[in-house]
Amino acid sequence: MTSDGNGAKRGLLERLAEGPVICAEGYLFELESRGYLQAGGFVPEVVLEFPEAVSQLHREFVRAGSDVVEALTYYGHREKLRLIGKEDLLEPLNRNALAIAKDVANEADGEPALLAGNICNTNLYVLDDSKTDAVIRAMFEEQVGWAVEGGADMIIAETFSYTAEALIALDVIKQTGLPAVVTMGLHREHVTREGHSAADSCKMLEDAGADVVGLNCMRGPATLLPFVKQVREAVSCHVAALPVPFRTTEAEPTFQSLRDPACNCIPGDRPFPVALDPMTCNRYEIGEFAKEAYDAGVRYLGICCGNAPHHTRQMAEALGRRPPASRFSPDMSKHFAFGTDESLLAENTQYVDKL
Ligand SMILES: [Zn+2]
Repeated sequence: MTSDGNGAKRGLLERLAEGPVICAEGYLFELESRGYLQAGGFVPEVVLEFPEAVSQLHREFVRAGSDVVEALTYYGHREKLRLIGKEDLLEPLNRNALAIAKDVANEADGEPALLAGNICNTNLYVLDDSKTDAVIRAMFEEQVGWAVEGGADMIIAETFSYTAEALIALDVIKQTGLPAVVTMGLHREHVTREGHSAADSCKMLEDAGADVVGLNCMRGPATLLPFVKQVREAVSCHVAALPVPFRTTEAEPTFQSLRDPACNCIPGDRPFPVALDPMTCNRYEIGEFAKEAYDAGVRYLGICCGNAPHHTRQMAEALGRRPPASRFSPDMSKHFAFGTDESLLAENTQYVDKL
């Protein structure tokens, strides 16, 4: 695919053939925490109301090493807009999201970032009901159509609970000829809602023509990676792994199931979605995840809900990159007490045990 940016631009598959590709996700959570978007409905009206906030976050993720600028159309679909009584905003929201993302993708000094269109779970899928299939297909068709017109280099279809819904999304993407990244979201049951293992689900998606398959969202590194490795064993195409940056456990394998025993003031006693702070992975944990996933053969890597630029930068650095934001990666040598610079006062450097 070509772009309006400067210089040569490799496509997704060319980049994956040469090394890892990083895709920063998590726009809804980050813009919620910044005060531009409401938790609950999680509809990205922000692309119409505060486009500069979206541009800035795209820019921060690219600066931190994201190779992909994902247009913020997640939950910008007809069903979500119906739910908030604003279906009339559907098309302008999608077109604006793509235009904002395209501008940032083309800002880079060197090779432009990849512009990704994005579709996701509709929340309308009902197993074995072909009536909903048609409604869902029409929703994907309109969004993918706007993505193509908006200059997308690739389409990401993500966080599906049903393989069957993901297959509809994939079929719509395949009609465009653009590379398709399709990722499933695995809930507490460790299988899709129709009962497929992650490996079987992803194999079906590969067989139906997906270029990249894998898992995103729902699970933190510790509870996502074992299933991603099973996917890697089961398919021969590229594999994606984009966990949420939270310390999920075997007992609480998803971010919706995490509890915070240290706090008794969370409404409903459920930290999801806005009180997960104490369970957030630090940047070093994300770096370790990236290395382990890459060593397992995963080439498409990123972070979903909860991602912030420092996580993405650490992922890039763990993969041997040095994105622009690495200029400000930590260097404690000049710290007044923990530092090693010879000019620092012994008065302070010998006081570290009392800090
Ligand atoms: Zn997510």
